[in-house]
Amino acid sequence: MASVLKHTQCPACGHRHHFCFLGPVLVPGRAYEFICPENAKKAILRPTSAGEAVKVPPQGAIALDERTTQGGEESGHPKPSPSAEGKSGPMQEVLPEIKDLAMKVGGIDRLDEVVKTVKEMNK
Ligand SMILES: [Zn+2]
Repeated sequence: MASVLKHTQCPACGHRHHFCFLGPVLVPGRAYEFICPENAKKAILRPTSAGEAVKVPPQGAIALDERTTQGGEESGHPKPSPSAEGKSGPMQEVLPEIKDLAMKVGGIDRLDEVVKTVKEMNK
């Protein structure tokens, strides 16, 4: 069974199209991806209703794709991916400490000198 959303406003071009979803259930409020045939833009449709169940979608209906890649999307609060967190995490933690250290020695330029001195000492 397919679901059809008739005369639904397209977020990509502002016109109304028929949309169809071939999956088992069209969930209102969920994000579905589609490509608008008028401007070939990829856009997200959040249907306000479950649509109309039909055996065969109408001709020219735009196929909706369930977004399965982003798990946090449904709640409206997308979570940053673990890999992105891993990249910025350590730097975010260290930066305030470096700033503190710079304040203690009298500024970033002084810190630079301190770092050089420490390097010399460790030679
Ligand atoms: Zn459109």
